[in-house]
Parts: sequence; structure tokens; C-alpha cells
Amino acid sequence: MRLHLATKTGVLHMYVIIGRRKMLLSLIIIVLCISLVISSIAIHNLVFAAGSSLYKDGIIQWVDFNVSYEALEKAMKLDIESYGKEVKLDWIEMLAYCAAKNGGNFKRFKTSQLDNLAKQLKEGKTMEELTKDLKYYPYYLEAYSAVLSGFLGEFEIEVKDEASETGKKWIKKYGLKAFCPIAKNYYFSHYDDFGNKRDYGFTRKHLGNDLMGSVGTPIIAVESGIVEALGWNQYGGWRIGIRSLDRKRYYYYAHLRQNFPYHKDLKEGSIVKAGDVIGYLGRTGYSTKENTNNIKQHHLHFGMQLVFDESQKESNNEIWIDVYNIVKLLSKNKSEVVKNPNTKDYNRVYDIKIPEVEAILNQQQ
Ligand SMILES: [Zn+2]
Repeated sequence: MRLHLATKTGVLHMYVIIGRRKMLLSLIIIVLCISLVISSIAIHNLVFAAGSSLYKDGIIQWVDFNVSYEALEKAMKLDIESYGKEVKLDWIEMLAYCAAKNGGNFKRFKTSQLDNLAKQLKEGKTMEELTKDLKYYPYYLEAYSAVLSGFLGEFEIEVKDEASETGKKWIKKYGLKAFCPIAKNYYFSHYDDFGNKRDYGFTRKHLGNDLMGSVGTPIIAVESGIVEALGWNQYGGWRIGIRSLDRKRYYYYAHLRQNFPYHKDLKEGSIVKAGDVIGYLGRTGYSTKENTNNIKQHHLHFGMQLVFDESQKESNNEIWIDVYNIVKLLSKNKSEVVKNPNTKDYNRVYDIKIPEVEAILNQQQ
């Protein structure tokens, strides 16, 4: 009887233990589920900072450009290698695909993801098929096109040729046609300082990338476009604003050199070609008084604003993106310059012909 009772108690005890374990297990599962839901909401909110207002009247309102350097470089390589092949890969589509898959977060990106995508496309799958269930693919495609569509393409460029009289010859190319904002053979350093705090005037976020270099370093037009702003601005000092020909990108080059900020040929409305010298590195700015050197360290502030609609250009909703990885990518393509002893200006050594720019220049003649 006692034995029986003991067994009964044991069974009861075991039942309690198993019950507790089950409860504990269910608790863990519930906690895990809740944290998963919370983190996915957090990621979603992080990616879509503007929440439901990603678009307004069909116009993109916000872009966080988080594409990693590895992804940019790999996608660009696949695009260039496929030029002239049966299946031409498009780096912007491929990057938009990766972004739509990973919620715009490239922290866990692996180049194998792009290799796999390239393989499927080469086997005959279409981007349309591959992206039909990716809700945010159209958003990323439009956003990344706005950032990158001026970077790759067909062009003609002069290269060194010792056999020719001029020492140069023209070649046709497909590839990177945008340039590093700092001229070839000039040192610069930078780090990802986008979003850091700035205190002049009012506390605000740093909306570009600072490239530290020495005074007078020739500054290069990253992409071809039209000079939209040239003059003094109390934050940027002597600065140049250049709008891309498709009007989607506004490039901002600031803190240019005291007394000699710009290439003398430039004025508002000028057409510049990617790789042209536009100005010189300095430390002007942080003053309402023109030509004041108030920035501590010589550097170029380089920024890119996206413009999906003209109303966004000067507004409370300006879309500036982090260009740090873009500058890293562009460092592969630098423009060599030479000084003109008469004008004291620097000029590019190797000229370029970009079809869209040539069309405009021909119209003007
Ligand atoms: Zn800056």
C-alpha cells in the first residue's frame, strides 16, 4: 500500500515535472515568436523609415541606400562581363532583386547570391518571373535606378598611345563612366560619416561624405550634367551643384578653395562631362561672409540628393543618400589632370565622349 502510494506520488511528481517542462517549452516558443515578430517589424521600420509614406501620389518619398561595397562591385562586374553576350545582365536590377529579398539590408549579403541570380538569368529565367512575388522589387528598382543609372554605359575615351603624335588615341568602351571626385595621383582619406552630427547653425545630420585631402586638390565631376548652383552658401562655402542629365541626381561639392574655388570656364548652366575638373579642395564655409575659411580641416564635402519630383529639390523632404560605398567604387576610375600654366587651372588629360552629353553639345552648336 505504501509502495503503491509512493508510486502514485512519483507518477504525480513526474506529471508535474513534464507539465512544467511543457509549459516552459511553450513559454520559450511564445517568447521566440513574439521576438521574431518584433524584430521583423523593427527591420521593416528600419528599412522603410517613412513607414507607409514610402510613396506619396506615386512618387518615392524616402531612400536608404544601404548597398554594400561588395554588392556594388560584384553586380557591376557581372554587368560589364555580360556586355555583348547573349544574356545582358543589369546590375541595377540585380541589386534591386537582392534588396527586395533581404529587406534592403546588405549586412548578411554574400556574393554567391548574385552568382546564383546571374546563373538563373543566363539559364533563361526572366527578371519578371524571378521577382513576381517580391513586393518591394519595383520600389528598389526605381530607387536604385535613380542612384546608379548614370554610372555604367557605352562611351569613348582617350587612352595613352605612345605610337601616336598626340600620345593618345580614342577607344570604345562599356563600363564605369562615372569618376572619383578626387583627381588621379592626389591622396584622400574618408570613412562612412553619413548621419553624424553637425553643429554649425543648428544641430543637423551630415548628409554626405567628407574626403580629406590637401588644399588645391583638383575636384572632378563624378557624372556629366548641368551646373545648377555655383557660388557661396553659408554651410557649404564655395560650392557647386550639378544636376545629372536625367535630373534624378543632384551632386553637391562643397568647401572649395578660398580665392580660387572653381574652374574658370564654369558658370551656372554650363554642361560638364564626367571626369572634368570643376574646382579645387579647400575649407570655406560656416560663415555668412563670402570667401571665409571657417572649416577646421581641408576637405571636399561630397553629397548626392535624389530628386523623384522637382518639389523635393528644396524641401523638408530632401532625399540625401549615403555615398561612402559609391565613392569607394568610383575610386576605381580616376581622372588624370594637368595644370595650364597660363590660366593656373587644371584640365583633364584624357577626354571622353558620352552619347547623351554629345547629343546636347551638338544641339548647342
Ligand atoms: Zn561634409
